[in-house]
Amino acid sequence: MLQSFGTDRSTKEAFDRLTSLVKDIFNVDVAAVSLIEGNRQTFKSIQGLDLTEIPLEASFCRATWRKGVPVIIPDTARDEEFHDHALVNEEPRLRFYAGVILRTSEGTPIGTICAIHTKPRIFSDKELRVLENLAEIAASEFELREFAHRDALTGALTRRQFLKEGSRLCEIVARKGLDVSVIMLDVDHFKSVNDQFGHASGDEVLRSLVAACRANLRDFDLAGRLGGEEFAIALEATNQHAARTAERLKRAVSRLQFTFDETPVRITSSFGVAMVHPGEHDLDGALLRADKALYKAKAEGRDRVVISDL
Ligand code: GH3
Ligand code: MG
Ligand code: MG
Repeated sequence: MLQSFGTDRSTKEAFDRLTSLVKDIFNVDVAAVSLIEGNRQTFKSIQGLDLTEIPLEASFCRATWRKGVPVIIPDTARDEEFHDHALVNEEPRLRFYAGVILRTSEGTPIGTICAIHTKPRIFSDKELRVLENLAEIAASEFELREFAHRDALTGALTRRQFLKEGSRLCEIVARKGLDVSVIMLDVDHFKSVNDQFGHASGDEVLRSLVAACRANLRDFDLAGRLGGEEFAIALEATNQHAARTAERLKRAVSRLQFTFDETPVRITSSFGVAMVHPGEHDLDGALLRADKALYKAKAEGRDRVVISDL
């Protein structure tokens, strides 16, 4: 999402406590709690190894993630999949792995918790149960602390959190003497998707739309759901640059293909772009200007990007 899950200090401490527990309980060299988004694994806490982010293809947790069940590798050097893995063959020569998936209360997989050791090791059923319990605790920490600020359907920030993080973005970017812009996006004729194919189909469109946008944004760009089928993105960029980003999002959205009731369905969206003016400390003014530009995009025929001239 846009922005990868920002972790505040107390959240970091909560996950660090869990990885300390994993290390102490199982007496292993490495413990990690990670979040998996798209193709990337981000460590919320890792102890014993110096990594913050690795591509999912390169990770042990990939196996846990792919299989959807706990994965225990007593000796990685004898494991078909991992015996020639760089982390096994070369320093730090990781030889044991046990990983469990973190799931939200709705069952959606969101990450993994794992115990890793530099020597082969047996993992008993009881130990697995303990790790599974720790996974549940870690998952509820995520839900309580991080997902509370996100819209459950799309994963975009809630309006309130978007505005809050937007103010922080303005502050940080202004200090560097750079620009912040906002892009507002509204799905064209979205009501007709609901009317023709039902609300669940409309929901699927919104989910895919946000995922498509996310894939075309940088990790630190903010994306929020302002309401209904209206979204906003805040990014460190001039309005010209933001407009190019909006054009890219517009193309990505228009390429989405759905099939509802055996009918192929495509959607378009309209965009308004505006810059935060010098001296403004939040997104409020820019959002108003972007909203006017968006209104113009609708009036001019939809499926287009309009830059605010205010
Ligand atoms: P326009 O091109 O002018 O934007 O037309 P529109 O049909 O997209 O605009 P309008 O604002 O009339 O309709 C928005 C619709 O979005 C109405 C509402 O039922 C629907 N909607 C809002 N939130 C959700 C949601 O979470 N899920 C679904 N499926 N529909 C939603
Ligand atoms: Mg609309
Ligand atoms: Mg609307």
